[in-house]
Amino acid sequence: MKRSYLIKPMLDEDYPIIDFGKGVYLYDIEFKEYLDASSGAVTANIGHGVKEIITAMKKQAKKVSFIYRSQFTSEPAEQLAEKIAELAGGDLNWSFFVNSGSEATETAMKIAIQYWQEKGLKTKTKILSRWVSYHGITLGALSMSGHAARRERFTPLLEDFPTIHPPYCYRCPFNQTAPECGYSCAQELETAIRRIGADHIAAFIAEPVIGAAGGAISPPEDYYQLIKEICDRHQILFIADEVMTGFGRTGTMLACEHWGVTPDIVALGKGMGAGYAPIAAALVSDRVMEPIRSGSKMVMSGHTLSANPQSCAVSLAVINYLEQNNIMNLVSEKSAYLFKKLQKLKYQFPFIGDVRGLGLLIGMEFVQDHNTKTPFPRAAAFTQKVIKTAMKYGLLLYPAGAGIDGIHGDAIIISPPLTITNEEMDELIQRLTKTCQELY
Ligand code: PLP
Repeated sequence: MKRSYLIKPMLDEDYPIIDFGKGVYLYDIEFKEYLDASSGAVTANIGHGVKEIITAMKKQAKKVSFIYRSQFTSEPAEQLAEKIAELAGGDLNWSFFVNSGSEATETAMKIAIQYWQEKGLKTKTKILSRWVSYHGITLGALSMSGHAARRERFTPLLEDFPTIHPPYCYRCPFNQTAPECGYSCAQELETAIRRIGADHIAAFIAEPVIGAAGGAISPPEDYYQLIKEICDRHQILFIADEVMTGFGRTGTMLACEHWGVTPDIVALGKGMGAGYAPIAAALVSDRVMEPIRSGSKMVMSGHTLSANPQSCAVSLAVINYLEQNNIMNLVSEKSAYLFKKLQKLKYQFPFIGDVRGLGLLIGMEFVQDHNTKTPFPRAAAFTQKVIKTAMKYGLLLYPAGAGIDGIHGDAIIISPPLTITNEEMDELIQRLTKTCQELY
């Protein structure tokens, strides 16, 4: 008989087979329970098996599951665009629906370039970015990503876009302290623009809180205001990659709201479908759409399954669920509860160097000794031990770290479904403590 194989992330590893999920828990076919403390890849924002979403899926499936975007539109797609514009605020009124975060950031990139073309500025094509960042796995998105380990194999095919250091206060690249530093990491953007020339730059892209590459690195208070001011002054668009941070993960629809900054373009994904359907979006401001509307009148991008009615119906149901259960408003309270307990662990275990983040996007960086902050010699090896040990105790954590340089290599993200209760957070801490005790 012919043998077939599923290509899994690690080909030689055995992965548990999950049978079903309920709330913050997943269960495998042997009835082992896993507390999903990372929402998978920061995606299952409202937990597993939510019946309201399943009902919405069924309802839409009975009507129509697919229409092609250049022939028709659909009620769920139109309603979703309206709802997202309402929640995002500012003049972010245009939604381009796609199927993954990588497609969303790449669409954002293309729209930024097109915007300048429509205005007759055809040399503005570069997208500046930061080292220690992740914007997706497709080649355009990877070009924008400052993630050494994921770029390495494909370097010849990539633009070398990432340009400036991240706002990484735990290991300040400038050896300074905020706010006295005057935000050298943001000022660096100004220097980069002067070197490269604003005539060649379409946009600057950043994750409001650095996720997969850094482990929930949240910037100092005035950082984004300064970044936006520099972008505006040099006529460079600001793209916020809110694929991980958007849709309530930090307690607001967009994380940029925390600093009062409205981006020109936003990429959304993950929490948009909360894992129930593949859906993501490039959310575009009136300002950016205006020259395209009065120019070529079409956005040069799209995928067969863009604005799929089934996925749009799921995302609408996710928004309803978030609103009806007041979920976003409760995030900061839950975050404070969890943070306090995680900070305590830091004093118990010397290999926990930093606990940081925003809302329910929390990072934990591992070091050889928290007094010296010395990183482990082989990036990611300790993180993998933590992840595996946690799995044994039925706890799911998400690995983070961009590096092959031993500096940004060892962190995890703790990002449970936003619906998690205090009792479930206690359980999370118990399982994490057991994990740390085993590794101590
Ligand atoms: N942007 C950010 C900030 C992400 O965290 C990710 C995925 O982790 C992506 C983009 C890519 O999203 P996807 O994996 O859905 O293509």
